[in-house]
Amino acid sequence: MDFSPIFKSLLSLWYLIPLFLFAAIVNSRRFKGILGEFIVNVFAKWKLDKDVYHLIKNVTLPTEDGTTQIDHIIVSVYGLFVVETKNIKGWIFGSTNQKMWTQKIYKHSNKFQNPLHQNYKHTKTLQSILSLEDSQIHSVIVFIGDSEFRTPMPDNVTYGMGYIRYIQSKTEAVISPEQVNEITQIIEEGRLARTFKNHREHVKHVQSIVAEKAKKNLCPKCGSEMVLRETKKGDNKGKPFWGCSAFPKCRNIVAYEN
Ligand SMILES: [Zn+2]
Repeated sequence: MDFSPIFKSLLSLWYLIPLFLFAAIVNSRRFKGILGEFIVNVFAKWKLDKDVYHLIKNVTLPTEDGTTQIDHIIVSVYGLFVVETKNIKGWIFGSTNQKMWTQKIYKHSNKFQNPLHQNYKHTKTLQSILSLEDSQIHSVIVFIGDSEFRTPMPDNVTYGMGYIRYIQSKTEAVISPEQVNEITQIIEEGRLARTFKNHREHVKHVQSIVAEKAKKNLCPKCGSEMVLRETKKGDNKGKPFWGCSAFPKCRNIVAYEN
């Protein structure tokens, strides 16, 4: 039997090989991650003035139980934008408060975590580390890839370049240029973890002071709260003292020290 016609026809299909390879690469998780990052970076470089918007990639964020990764943070006088990219295909159904969102491809549907909730933790952590108000930090979700929203989405859930429009819609300056520099430096120099630790220690310290104070102000006899009172008569008239709030049931008093 002569195989050469088959061989020849197979040979004529050579172009399928790179095509298959290309498809395999495009579908790989790693490539999707790279693509997502690429899209965000390119759009940012193309559309956002780099003197105004500072794009920081791959930020390691400390958490109570380890670390988590944020793809992109954009720091500007118009606020700190925490960008979460989602490479999910198909029809997307979801709303602000739903815990799980739905992805539908033909007849298959999958649930995935509401990206707003996912990003909420990131923004809250950053907010507390950097001491920012709610109005100074914005959560932005960017869907990339072949998907379509099938339910109305809040403004900060965007598709592709839409995230640029969302960022540009914030036109009120809420962070001073000095603070923008400071925040950018903290994040770029990887100082978030240390700041987080200091912040946590500071919070603990404040809490212990509050607890100590609360302890001091309880009546040693009955545990009721002590209240500051004034001596009404006698030589000590007008002098403050700590009296038990359970008076007259408890007549305990404690000297007031300045
Ligand atoms: Zn008492």
